[in-house]
Amino acid sequence: MTRERDVLRDFAAIVGENHVLVGADVAARHDTYPPGPAMAALGIVRPASTAEVAAILRYCDAHGVAVIPQGGRTGLVSGGKTRAGDVALSFERMTAIEAIDIPGSTMIVQAGVPLQRVQEAALEAGMTYPVDLGARGSATIGGTIATNAGGNSVLRYGMTRDQILGLEVVLADGTVLSNMNRMMKNNAGYDLKQMFIGSEGTLGVVTRAVLRLRPEPGVRATAWLGAGDFDAVLALLALAGRESSGALTSFEVMWPSFLDAVLPSGRHQPPLNGEHAFHILIEIVSRHAQDQLQLILEAAWEQGLITDATLATSDAQAHALWAIRDDIEALVGGLRPLFLYDISLPQVAMVGYLGQLRAALDARWPGAALVVFGHVADGNLHVCIHTGDESDHHAVDDMVYGLLRPLAGSVSAEHGIGLDKRDYLDVTRTAEEIALMGRLKHLLDPNGTLNPGKVLRGA
Ligand SMILES: Cc1cc2nc3c(=O)[nH]c(=O)nc-3n(C[C@H](O)[C@H](O)[C@H](O)COP(=O)(O)OP(=O)(O)OC[C@H]3O[C@@H](n4cnc5c(N)ncnc54)[C@H](O)[C@@H]3O)c2cc1C
Repeated sequence: MTRERDVLRDFAAIVGENHVLVGADVAARHDTYPPGPAMAALGIVRPASTAEVAAILRYCDAHGVAVIPQGGRTGLVSGGKTRAGDVALSFERMTAIEAIDIPGSTMIVQAGVPLQRVQEAALEAGMTYPVDLGARGSATIGGTIATNAGGNSVLRYGMTRDQILGLEVVLADGTVLSNMNRMMKNNAGYDLKQMFIGSEGTLGVVTRAVLRLRPEPGVRATAWLGAGDFDAVLALLALAGRESSGALTSFEVMWPSFLDAVLPSGRHQPPLNGEHAFHILIEIVSRHAQDQLQLILEAAWEQGLITDATLATSDAQAHALWAIRDDIEALVGGLRPLFLYDISLPQVAMVGYLGQLRAALDARWPGAALVVFGHVADGNLHVCIHTGDESDHHAVDDMVYGLLRPLAGSVSAEHGIGLDKRDYLDVTRTAEEIALMGRLKHLLDPNGTLNPGKVLRGA
């Protein structure tokens, strides 16, 4: 108890008493999504600067206190989960957009800025920051960097690692590793920042970043389509890619099970009439987006690739269509407990994989719900399973990932490994890769101060 009091007093000396939260303020927060039990941490520390982050890490590393970085706490793999005795490092006071360089197409930000604020600031400057995901209002830039977040525009712009030009990171011992590079080209030695992007707070703490902005690509054309089979979905993807000259930004596919799970919330209008084997939300952003989308839809009708279509004729309509796709809250609220998976595999293997999964579920849990949607163009499916019993979770994990192994698929397309997928890393990574990850972790964090036990067991 005395030791805990001393630790909290020492944190207060670094960040100020008001910025060390304890007791009910800690218990009021959740550190997993969907929200699970209340946070268990000894305290939440809220630094205001890189220097304060460095001082906290130096202290924790010297005193054997584990540090769990936390951004918006929207991560889906328990990467920010704390144990009693850990300290949560919150970035809610590090929310500055420090600079926007229009000719250079860069934005310099602190780690705690919410993704949506970055998107809005880029738009105000006549550009775009293309990482986009349903949790945009809460997810922070630091969290999206730490998880190498993907989202709805990966097809066109790549993942978060493709948007980061420079990074400032604090190592476990408090060393500030600053490379706030603003140039597109910089081949001087190893690109160390890439090691920290996607490392889920286990190798270093992200404090600032130089983001790459893109030219504002023009107007948005959005449509919700129906298709009769998966071959038609893939043919439509190829057609849309070809005819949009690289302007196809999103191609989200939903199985009927997704709509069956989300529409009962009553928050949305059904996007199409009738039954369709697949639903597709397609978006093109360019100067001629409406014309391009019109041509794609005409060709798709002629080729028999689509069974119905709703074209958004206003931003509000486009927003309403996206609200259905993004309504993870309705999904998880309607089916509790819901086991969420974020897998990737070649598109041509998707139907076979899902058929095997359905058969395996039926054999063990007849009537279990299997909800599927995802960024099919990126080979990424979100698979959600409801057996009705939380204690089935591990057995369902074994099933989902076991069927993936022979397909050389990934247990994490975009959400990361955190705690939830740690035992399945070897489905996707070789023993040699995992051993090297362990050596890197030990080199950068020999005392196991940073987010211990996440990503790698025992690290
Ligand atoms: C509704 C919804 C939709 C989503 N859609 C997508 C999607 O389409 N694509 C996708 O990729 N993800 C998606 N996610 C997952 C989540 O939003 C992302 O993982 C996001 O990047 C997490 O950001 P955060 O700030 O909430 O991070 P947190 O959840 O707070 O943390 C995530 C991980 O990053 C670490 N971390 C956080 N900040 C830092 C930092 N400054 N330095 C070092 N480590 C840090 C944490 O320790 C933890 O391991 C979705 C989540 C929700 C709830």
